Amino acid sequence: MNNNLPKCSFCNNDLTHTFINLGMQPLCEDFVKAEQLNQMEPHYPLHTYICDNCFLVQLQEFVDPSEIYKGYDYFSSYSDSWVHHAKKYTELMIDKFNLNKNSLVAEIASNDGYLLQWFNEKDIPNLGIEPAANIAEFAIKEKSIRTEVKFFGVETAKYLKDKYGQPDLLLGNNVLAHVPDINDFVKGMKIFLKPGGVITMEFPHLQKLMEENQFDTIYHEHFSYFSFTIVSEIFEFHQLQLWDVEELSTHGGSLRIYGKHIDDDSKPVTNRAKDLLQRELDMGFKDLEFYKSFEDNVKETKRKILEFLIQAKRDKKQVVGYGAPGKGNTLLNYCGIRTDFIDYTVDRNPHKHNKFLPGTLIPILDPSMIKKTKPDYVFLLPWNLKNEIIEQHSYIKEWGGKFIVPIPELSILD
Ligand SMILES: [Zn+2]
Repeated sequence: MNNNLPKCSFCNNDLTHTFINLGMQPLCEDFVKAEQLNQMEPHYPLHTYICDNCFLVQLQEFVDPSEIYKGYDYFSSYSDSWVHHAKKYTELMIDKFNLNKNSLVAEIASNDGYLLQWFNEKDIPNLGIEPAANIAEFAIKEKSIRTEVKFFGVETAKYLKDKYGQPDLLLGNNVLAHVPDINDFVKGMKIFLKPGGVITMEFPHLQKLMEENQFDTIYHEHFSYFSFTIVSEIFEFHQLQLWDVEELSTHGGSLRIYGKHIDDDSKPVTNRAKDLLQRELDMGFKDLEFYKSFEDNVKETKRKILEFLIQAKRDKKQVVGYGAPGKGNTLLNYCGIRTDFIDYTVDRNPHKHNKFLPGTLIPILDPSMIKKTKPDYVFLLPWNLKNEIIEQHSYIKEWGGKFIVPIPELSILD
């Protein structure tokens, strides 16, 4: 064993195989204020590995998550489609698991209460666990969501179990991939979940990331990139079993997994779960070679995006961005796109206005700027919300403006 090699966060094997290396990048949620424009920005390696023992695709931890969540500005409620998705989820769960006034629902990474508010509305007791203090405070004050400001893991699980009891439904959407110590996190869920209770989690599916070339969903806060197979193995290691799974279209293609205690015989493993394991096996998710083609596809995507932007600028077109999501920053920094190509970007979240994108220092403005400057092209960064955004801003057609979607391959939408 060479001690200088990075180690797998699940099985502790040496990591020697690159999945993709996106170079040195700043933290994608570290927006820059005007007075910081002349200061140095910390950059960290954005280099993902594939473990040749357990096949977990992963990023090393370089930044303490408490640093990341100190000034976190991501309020889920700013996305209408995401709030709608949350509402539909709560209705499904209430129905499926007969949740009522005597149940307890707990959400890990409950953000601003975008989801638990729907349980509140039905008078189903609930608890949020959220590490970003400013966002938790919003949930408590504005949405009356009982929220604990904490990172989840074994210690937090013991504390919550003593204070609130064990949940019938324990959920976490887009949190599992953001956990640096996956073993501590899953072990914590094993401790916290009520006997007979259900865990549901949603996370982007590695199959979609690879098929649809979604390299921009790789960023420093996102430590693990999961197949259903590897998540099943991690849960089983901690005496939890995945007994069902749904494939969702959110975030470019996500899985919703259903977990239970391994000794809970009341929920048989569904055919959906068995079929997905088999499909992944057939596709090559247990074969190192399968993972190797991804980097070449990403490099070609970068060349296509730059080709388009260079031509657009030669033709004296104005290009602006839409959105300031984490994924946009990975793409812009990897491709080296700055204000030489994109004049500004806009975002609905006023907390981001008059700040600058990390690394590229593209200014973030109010969406009303689009009507003022009438750009030729609007480069859509949160492509997962493509339909919602294009519908809201269809007025750009009035002056012949067009949307550009960079992923899976650059396309110009008329
Ligand atoms: Zn491993």
